[in-house]
Amino acid sequence: MRILVVEDENSIAQFVSQGLREADFVVDVARNGRDGLEFALSAEYDVIVLDVMLPIMDGLTLLKELRKKGHTTPVLLLTARDEVEDRVAGLDAGADDYLTKPFAFPELLARLRALLRRPPIQAGTVLRLADLEMDTIKREIRRSGQLIELSQREYTLLNYLFRHPGQVLTRTQIAEHIWNFDFVNDSNVVDVYIGYLRRKIDRGFSPPLLHTVRGVGYRLSAENEHD
Ligand code: CA
Repeated sequence: MRILVVEDENSIAQFVSQGLREADFVVDVARNGRDGLEFALSAEYDVIVLDVMLPIMDGLTLLKELRKKGHTTPVLLLTARDEVEDRVAGLDAGADDYLTKPFAFPELLARLRALLRRPPIQAGTVLRLADLEMDTIKREIRRSGQLIELSQREYTLLNYLFRHPGQVLTRTQIAEHIWNFDFVNDSNVVDVYIGYLRRKIDRGFSPPLLHTVRGVGYRLSAENEHD
């Protein structure tokens, strides 16, 4: 597995790249955004660790350029504490996950492994997460074998979440996928539908699967990570 680390802070770049090499990854380090983009475009990486604040070209610009060129390599953003807007902008720009500095190396490694394990898109007809099942042919939802009735919107919303397991999705991302453009600026509608969906798939069941990531968005996951 080959990983690109784009980070200008020496100490972080060093401890991350050393740890990843010890975990048997092949690691390249770029020290500014322009070099990072050049690396990312010229080699096949399995995942990219990308700092947001970078000299010459910032991380979000790099990410947008990469996505604009059609590159789908998973990207994990490194953000500073309390930069909620950065994280939202990062996820909207096409990041797959983020980690707040300072972080412990084992957490970075766990996140990267999760990104590497993630199937690009679950193409099967029955999607599963813990005891929640979505049969996309019969359009049936079951939790613990119990049939759950969903409206068309709720079904579409759950299907979207299911196709990005473990990933934080921002309100903007959700709105743009589920509603037409009239609704995109009304993020409240997303919260309302998440509430409906949560009542149906989580109430009375354990563990909770639909998580709120405060100030950022939502995540469908069997693990209680960021809440
Ligand atoms: Ca930095």
